[in-house]
Amino acid sequence: MFTTQPSRETRRCPDQPVKTVCNDPDKSVATDQLSSDTLVYQSPYGHACCPHCKSEFDLAAAKPTFLEQAPHKDVVVYIMCPECHAGYQAGDGVARKSMSDKCFINFKLNSIDSEGAVYPWAITTMLTMELNDFDPVAAIENGHGLTSDQYFGICAGRYEVFVLLGGLRIMTAKPTTSEAA
Ligand SMILES: [Zn+2]
Repeated sequence: MFTTQPSRETRRCPDQPVKTVCNDPDKSVATDQLSSDTLVYQSPYGHACCPHCKSEFDLAAAKPTFLEQAPHKDVVVYIMCPECHAGYQAGDGVARKSMSDKCFINFKLNSIDSEGAVYPWAITTMLTMELNDFDPVAAIENGHGLTSDQYFGICAGRYEVFVLLGGLRIMTAKPTTSEAA
């Protein structure tokens, strides 16, 4: 579905460094050690960390690498850095599975760097992408902007999002005709 989106190549800023290592990838702690005052690693605007190799990269020209169906019916969108993305595209099924498995481990188990900060992963969801016109920079930087009730309501099919001319979005409750299960 992303193939129909216009290219964002022209928005890439040539002056920005594309690749710096976010932090020591070998010293991570489990996400259950997260506390309310956990630091978030500060990456420059429009940059995020590759869920595969943890290097920081510019999202402006990035494309989603692979998708994962989430239990709450949204779809998780993983965006790898240009090098890993190209490797994934060129890889066979085994190589791709190995790369996606590493992303799952980084994202779900090793999300904290050696200094206790949360990695700004280049990971979003399909609903968030949709709400941001499929612009990965906007999706990562802005998020979905919904309350958790609204977010899970849309995922559960209780609301629908309509995009009007000019980009205005409205949510309407879906008719509950299929409640009898
Ligand atoms: Zn990478």
